[in-house]
Amino acid sequence: MIEKDYIPDKDRYEKMIYRRCGRSGLQLPLLSLGLWHNFGDVDDFKIATEIIYKAFDLGINHFDLANNYGPPDGSAEKNFGKIFQKNFKAYRDELIISSKAGYYMWPGPYGEWGSRKYLIASCDQSLKRLGIEYVDIFYSHRPDPDTPLEETMSAIDQLVRQGKALYAGISNYSPEQTMRASKILHELGTSCVIHQPKYSMFERTPEQGLLDVLSLEGIGCIVFSPLAQGLLTDRYLKGISDNSRAAKTSSPFLTKKDITPEIIEKTGKLNTLALERGQSLAQMAIAWLLKDERVTSVLVGASSPKQLTDNIGAIHNITFSQDEILLIDSILQS
Ligand code: NDP
Repeated sequence: MIEKDYIPDKDRYEKMIYRRCGRSGLQLPLLSLGLWHNFGDVDDFKIATEIIYKAFDLGINHFDLANNYGPPDGSAEKNFGKIFQKNFKAYRDELIISSKAGYYMWPGPYGEWGSRKYLIASCDQSLKRLGIEYVDIFYSHRPDPDTPLEETMSAIDQLVRQGKALYAGISNYSPEQTMRASKILHELGTSCVIHQPKYSMFERTPEQGLLDVLSLEGIGCIVFSPLAQGLLTDRYLKGISDNSRAAKTSSPFLTKKDITPEIIEKTGKLNTLALERGQSLAQMAIAWLLKDERVTSVLVGASSPKQLTDNIGAIHNITFSQDEILLIDSILQS
């Protein structure tokens, strides 16, 4: 018997706003928590646990995982599973837990991409690591150029029919691939409920057609790396601290080389505007995404409970004047 040592804040749902995910019955918090970084075996389990508790206390009831989150691969699911078994089991029906498969997980021809063989095996492995019977959302993590999309989508449909996933999702699919995936799933009788693209002030690709397709198809949108992995915060304005993502060798996706003088100049200007709005830069970057109603949820990462508390402040002001929008665009284009 594992002893519980956490009781969630009873006012947690008063602190958050929930948005409908496309034309589905699913509602998601304006901010969700991603476990890509800071929840692996290389990280501090105590801090990871505190971040999860803080999230739930703030009304963030959606936790996003993938088979390969760690490092090592799979350890974020295993660690979330431990926290879940200890203190979250009683709240299972209040939680939206997602996982994905698409990137490399094990050797041989069935350990990555989009075959039925890989997706079904990977989902089973994720459920075991998490210690749960079903995930709420299961994603095809990336499109597979060599497997017919019909096969990938029918594997997702199968997982939904088997009750191993409640909702179907896709991630990193182009507008055209999204249209096709949505059509195939519809024909199979399962809706594509959500898309997970990379979107931030520094990554505007979804504005070139994807958001329109999502709106047309009634698919929700949960955006990843909304803070450009920390660049769109005040984290690097005064240098690169040793505990930041850019300084950590376990994070090859953001390195010290990415902290260029041009980036610091832009974020410095954005920071000034954020302060004028009465927000931190992180809050303004999140609010800027949420101003578009097509964005269902913003999927943030955090290395401390404090960052999460800061980020959630974004929801108190998600409106921008036309002048502010133009100023932000001119800073980004400078
Ligand atoms: P963010 O852009 O939100 O970056 C998070 C990082 O920014 C934190 O780890 C922290 O870095 C820093 N940060 C956050 N808040 C603050 C703050 N208030 N002040 C200062 N610094 C702050 O998101 P991620 O890149 O982490 O991605 C979020 C989630 O999106 C992932 O966990 C995952 O679930 C999903 N994702 C999905 C992908 C896909 O292909 N579908 C790909 C990538 C991510 P530091 O460690 O330096 O403190």
